[in-house]
Amino acid sequence: MTTPDTSVLTLPLPPGSTIGIMGGGQLGRMLSQAASRLGFDVLILDPEENCPAARVSRGQFVAAYDDPAALNIMGRACDVVTFEFENVPAASIERLAEGGALVAPGPTALAVAQDRVDEKTFLNAVGASTVDFVAVDVLDDLIAGLATLGAPALLKTRRDGYDGKGQAWVASAYEAAGAFAAIGGRPAILEARAAFTRELSIIAARGHDGSVAVYPLGENQHAGGVLRLTSAPAAVDVATTARARAIAEAILDGLDYVGVIGIELFDLGHGTLLVNEIAPRVHNTGHWTQDGCVCDQFEQHIRAIAGWPLGPTQAHARVEMTNLLGSDIDAWPTLAAEPDARLHLYGKAEARPGRKMGHVTRIYPDT
Ligand code: AMP
Repeated sequence: MTTPDTSVLTLPLPPGSTIGIMGGGQLGRMLSQAASRLGFDVLILDPEENCPAARVSRGQFVAAYDDPAALNIMGRACDVVTFEFENVPAASIERLAEGGALVAPGPTALAVAQDRVDEKTFLNAVGASTVDFVAVDVLDDLIAGLATLGAPALLKTRRDGYDGKGQAWVASAYEAAGAFAAIGGRPAILEARAAFTRELSIIAARGHDGSVAVYPLGENQHAGGVLRLTSAPAAVDVATTARARAIAEAILDGLDYVGVIGIELFDLGHGTLLVNEIAPRVHNTGHWTQDGCVCDQFEQHIRAIAGWPLGPTQAHARVEMTNLLGSDIDAWPTLAAEPDARLHLYGKAEARPGRKMGHVTRIYPDT
């Protein structure tokens, strides 16, 4: 393995360079597949031996995400390190960066996205509007917040929430104590209810040189807080597209971001978009790009972090992406026989209920 000296590291990284990915789930796996097609080697760090990404990569460090020895070796072995999920400890990313590794996206973007209060504060500061919110540390904050924001309002843990976990609707002050207990009495955010007509998302990328590439919007359907379906490109007017693009650029520039980002939006109708949350990584609502675009979000991320020119983002097909959760995967023989469907399976052995096992894209070529 080579030991990069980042003081002389020059971009773009040539094929044959090594990319490190923190996290070895399906996003790491699809990133690794995209990277290998461009001639890179990939090393995964994940505590789970033989994780989905490791099985398509050159190697794996089987270690905790905050294991100092593993981080040191990973930093030295890789020309650039990235991550596939936002709950990687920000301190680990800082450690890698301080050790001289090139890390993208950087620690600031990760830290902002890990805390819902910091995230919304940042978003509003760069002109990307969100629902009104209050920080909740103790029960009295929640009761006062309900009076300010109105009920019902949504209580979410500040940190570590994903796919609707750690969330509770609060219909009145009488429910406050129960809701706070339901999320473990942890530091939280209380959000005003967004009266959205639909949920959209935008996948965008920014390079080391500040160049930005933005994909067409996707329209998303969730069930139980988990994404089920994305249709893209979403039917949106020119003004909404322009607004979403401006939001993406403000966020990317505000974070001095490098890589792909997923931005979830609430469409309130009448051209008003609010940002729900940002994910500093490739995103489930961007999987449609695998079969709808020449350069998908995974290749785009690899291009961005390696300092390559960003790829084209226009869609050549309309795509419906459906997540295969838990036992949905059992339908693979039928799905494989559908002429316009493309299967993407993650190689996970155990189909626990609700677990993301794969996705299927249905492709409607743009004539
Ligand atoms: P999140 O974990 O923040 O992405 O939330 C999961 C889902 O809950 C979103 O996709 C929305 O469907 C819903 N949701 C989240 N925040 C709000 C809100 N403030 N108002 C209404 N619905 C929300």
